[in-house]
Amino acid sequence: MNDIAANLAAARARIDAACARVGRDPGEVELLPVSKTHPLDALRVAHAAGYTRFGESRPQEIEEKASGLADLDLAWVHIGHLQTNKARVVVEHVAEFQALDSLRLAESLDRRLRAAGRRLPVLVQVNSSGEGTKGGFAPDEVPDAVRALGALDALDVRGLMTLAAHTDDQDVVRACFTTMTDLQARLRDEHGGGFDALSMGMSNDFELAVECGSTCVRLGTAIFGARPPLV
Ligand SMILES: *Cc1c(COP(=O)(O)O)cnc(C)c1O
Repeated sequence: MNDIAANLAAARARIDAACARVGRDPGEVELLPVSKTHPLDALRVAHAAGYTRFGESRPQEIEEKASGLADLDLAWVHIGHLQTNKARVVVEHVAEFQALDSLRLAESLDRRLRAAGRRLPVLVQVNSSGEGTKGGFAPDEVPDAVRALGALDALDVRGLMTLAAHTDDQDVVRACFTTMTDLQARLRDEHGGGFDALSMGMSNDFELAVECGSTCVRLGTAIFGARPPLV
């Protein structure tokens, strides 16, 4: 627990150094602590260190944490796959949804958001590695999907999110990240700008992601330590 503040500072310094290597403004890159599976006290420590946005991937856990930490002013960022029947939790508690991976989910979220009278910032998840185990739209499907999302008024499409290939081969990881910046450029061309958010980079690859243009690195293990295995 004592390490969390030090881990945040060390990761932030590594992000800033990666920015410096490629001439980027460090203010463009958010460190999003990913607190899934970690206890309320861990989030309290990160909050005391100045962090208010937290990445989570299970609706039930978000509800529990939102109620256990109701005394803090926190914003929940949903970063995992969402079943359509769990859209209610996102509409009630989530400030930003980074894992939009199907039009069916988009329509369900849009319907519930309109009923609740709110809009939701979303990122379109892209399967940049082509691995069958990873969610998201194939890169080629994204331009059509984004056009379709334009009809859903309650969804505010801010950009793209990905999980790169899980490998030590830096060239393979870099190819995932450049697939994303290529796609971002293509969307900006077609729509005349926008799509500024690029959520990419996790504990094992965030410095490369920052060098390649990430605006949000999602760090779990590097901040909070190892997670218990998912059941
Ligand atoms: C769990 C998770 C992370 C954090 O992973 P670490 O390797 O622990 O940093 C990032 N992004 C998504 C989508 C996740 O589910």
